[in-house]
Amino acid sequence: MMKADLHVHSRFCDGKNTPEEMVLSAIEKGMDCIGFTGHSYTPFETEYCMSPEGTVRYRAELDRLREKYAGQIRILTGIEEDYYSGDDPLDYDYMIGSVHYLKCGDHYMPVDGGRELLIQGIRDYFHGDALAMAEKFYETAADVVRKTGCDVIGHFDLVTIFNEEEPYLDTGDPRYRAAWMKAADTLLQTGRPFEVNLGAIARGYRKNPYPSCEIREYLSARGGKLFLTGDSHRADTLMYRFEDYRSLETVDVETVIRGFARNRH
Ligand SMILES: [Zn+2]
Ligand SMILES: [Zn+2]
Repeated sequence: MMKADLHVHSRFCDGKNTPEEMVLSAIEKGMDCIGFTGHSYTPFETEYCMSPEGTVRYRAELDRLREKYAGQIRILTGIEEDYYSGDDPLDYDYMIGSVHYLKCGDHYMPVDGGRELLIQGIRDYFHGDALAMAEKFYETAADVVRKTGCDVIGHFDLVTIFNEEEPYLDTGDPRYRAAWMKAADTLLQTGRPFEVNLGAIARGYRKNPYPSCEIREYLSARGGKLFLTGDSHRADTLMYRFEDYRSLETVDVETVIRGFARNRH
């Protein structure tokens, strides 16, 4: 079985290591392939994404590493494309499409910018109604493949990121379930695979991967393709605990990668 992590960040965005350090760690771990997915540029929040110039340097650095480590590991140049960025999918080997913000009037409210910010956003923009916030999130998420042209659907239920310890969102509420099911049905029609993201486990935010068990079962039962990603922000968390969660995959990563090439023809 191919060993690959296709959701990887580096210092070009909010990761802790250089791409080369990530590549060396991947080689040491015996990985066959590493796919970099720097955060796409978003003009309204520049703290953790790549700048336009940084994106050019990112691509050049990955070209250099691909040549330097040819024969040792396969390196893919991807991007984690935010719903509100505007990159061309054909410029990359692949794109992960992710919703990190909700557009509330002129304001972009961060979903994963910290628990306090999220709760404040629910108060300021949704009259304290967390379910209304989730409905807005899934309306946006449902459109992510159409809007970005992405090859992979990123952290489908990111809206629950800080919900494990002290829940702010009732995920058993019929409104919540209706919202994600509608988005899931739309996205299933695209045939694009969903990542099962272990990043929040590696970073200590959560004990369970996203999407949730209920959502994974819903997707799997309808032919949804699920595969593991690390959302690694550090060299030592590449493929973090993949072996423990292998049974959640419904498609192997090699098939996922073959799909990228097909999407570009
Ligand atoms: Zn993300
Ligand atoms: Zn990410």
